[in-house]
Amino acid sequence: MQSVPLDELIENFYQHHFLDKPTAEDKIRVSFLGDLNLNEDVDELQSTEEVKISLFDSLSLKKIAIPCRSYECEHLQCFDLRYWLERNYHEEHWKCPICCKQLRLSQIYIDGYFEDLFKKVDGREVIILPDASWKSIDVMKEEVNALNVPHKQPKSDMKNKKIQSETQMKSSKDKENEIDHLKKEIKKQKEWKEIARKMIKQRFVEKKYTSVSTKYKCLLCGSGY
Ligand SMILES: [Zn+2]
Ligand SMILES: [Zn+2]
Repeated sequence: MQSVPLDELIENFYQHHFLDKPTAEDKIRVSFLGDLNLNEDVDELQSTEEVKISLFDSLSLKKIAIPCRSYECEHLQCFDLRYWLERNYHEEHWKCPICCKQLRLSQIYIDGYFEDLFKKVDGREVIILPDASWKSIDVMKEEVNALNVPHKQPKSDMKNKKIQSETQMKSSKDKENEIDHLKKEIKKQKEWKEIARKMIKQRFVEKKYTSVSTKYKCLLCGSGY
């Protein structure tokens, strides 16, 4: 690969290894659904999961200009393609800076969702939600500040209410049927999520290479003409 100029290699990624925004969004949804599906815990289903993503590259410490990761990676966090390639031209580790997996160039793709998002957002981090929407970390800080206002303490109130309701449930046998019903509802939800996950995954697999250019063959995996 060292004989290929860096700009040409990056252009090759844009032509052949670019995940368009809607497909990248699907991939995010799949990653959240995957987590939920594994867990049988009631509380886990009720919790709102979200992932904090840094706009800055962990190696260069600069803002990520070309966000990429590998199909082999299980994380949403991206790294900067240009910096990573430059660095590996010299060091040849070819390891993911996030999960440390040995990466194959043919499995790396530019993420169209994060490329678009990083252009829109300032600051250091964003929060990604299970439906692939996002919010800036500044909004989060405002929410945290609101929770820290003295005498209000809405978070601990909620906790108390929860403990109270759990105690009531445990103390009454009448509540057992209700719990059974709840469990059935959750099972239904899980089944639906599994179907949704499969559908999205199928769509993702089908669309994986639809952005492949037909102008010339990919330097990395040979797809296209
Ligand atoms: Zn990784
Ligand atoms: Zn390729």
